Amino acid sequence: MSQAVPDTGGNMERKTEKTLVLFFINLVLIILIFIGTIYVGVFVNHKLGIDHELESRGRAIVNSFILARHWNAKYGGVYVEKTAGIDSNPYLKNPDMQGIDGKIYTKKNPSLMIREISEIAKEKKDGFEFNITSLRPINKNNIPDGFEIKALKMFELGEIEIFKKEHSEGSTYFRYMAPLIIEESCLTCHWDQGYKTGEVRGGISVRFNIDQEEKDLAKKMYLILGLAVITLLSLFGIIYRLVHQFGRRLEKTEARLQQMAVTDELTGLKNRRYLVERLRSEVKQAHRDLKPVSCILFDLDHFKSINDRFGHEVGDQVLRTVADTAKDQCRETDILSRFGGEEFVMILPNTNLEGAMEVAERLRLAIMAQKIILSDGRVLTFTASFGVAWMLPPGLVAGEDEASLLKRADDGLYLAKGNGRNRVEAVA
Ligand code: GH3
Ligand code: MG
Ligand code: MG
Repeated sequence: MSQAVPDTGGNMERKTEKTLVLFFINLVLIILIFIGTIYVGVFVNHKLGIDHELESRGRAIVNSFILARHWNAKYGGVYVEKTAGIDSNPYLKNPDMQGIDGKIYTKKNPSLMIREISEIAKEKKDGFEFNITSLRPINKNNIPDGFEIKALKMFELGEIEIFKKEHSEGSTYFRYMAPLIIEESCLTCHWDQGYKTGEVRGGISVRFNIDQEEKDLAKKMYLILGLAVITLLSLFGIIYRLVHQFGRRLEKTEARLQQMAVTDELTGLKNRRYLVERLRSEVKQAHRDLKPVSCILFDLDHFKSINDRFGHEVGDQVLRTVADTAKDQCRETDILSRFGGEEFVMILPNTNLEGAMEVAERLRLAIMAQKIILSDGRVLTFTASFGVAWMLPPGLVAGEDEASLLKRADDGLYLAKGNGRNRVEAVA
């Protein structure tokens, strides 16, 4: 006998599945944001560290030149022997002088010293170039470029250093610039330009190649990205597995609950709730197929007195025995249920009155044949009365529905009880 559960759980399963999918998506999003933030944080922190290191490097280089310039300015310029290839500074009024040794010495003032060192650095090409410059340069070689002009203007507004990364000729450079502030010693040469101490005279800028740092940063970024992807995929995999397992357990629990909701605990038969639902769908099916459907309602005779004489437990045993007997008499397609108390209903799809009466009679005899041996050795037998109703090929009888079918089976049962019990009666 197979008794399919009406599809009341389908919707619930779909809802649970939807809830689990939503839960999974939300969890994935939360983890994505969480892990993403951590890895972006790690990368930004690393990048800031590199930027900080580049700034420090630029600052150190420029500071060393400011110090060297300061040293030179402190002595009002220094003299070097004017040998072959050494030119006099054309921007100074009297750059040359003769020493007591008869040799000619020429003056290297701070700006020229820095300019000449910068030219040596440019020639050596060992990683950095620097420049001494001003918005009002005396030496034409010290004319500022775009970055330097901007920086010099910012210094006049109070900035104390400016830096930026720039791309040129397929390479990336870091540029740093700090101001040169007019001190007492500077006025020796620049007094005629109207400067005052504390004013910005110009600045020293440095530029160095950072291709290697950029490459390292890109490598780090790919490494972090790779780690983030591995972490996320692993976490998603674990979560998916857990959610999947949880979902399967939930499905099993739901199925068990659904089963419990339609099962009678004492007899293991389907309960009234299931029967009513199922009778409705069977009647609909019969309407569609234009086939008959029958219903048997049976009730134990004088069951109250069995309870009263032998106790509730024996009563329960009788109910279980009747359920098992009825199960044995059922066909695959029949639907059997405990309708309430000591009442049972059997639906017989595609069965006419004659067939249903035959089943009811067979079941009546089978119940009557059952014996329960009591603890004191006495033998207990019992009987049941049956009401049978059938529905003609639906469509031929107007207005017939599952309620009227059940009602007529109940009328038959009433008739059977009235006619002496332990019998089968039908109401057309
Ligand atoms: P009738 O032949 O007219 O049907 O008489 P009856 O005594 O069978 O009917 P009645 O409705 O007077 O009594 C039904 C009894 O069934 C009363 C109730 O205590 C008993 N009963 C209902 N459910 C259970 C159950 O689950 N277990 C037991 N042991 N008894 C039950
Ligand atoms: Mg009864
Ligand atoms: Mg009853």
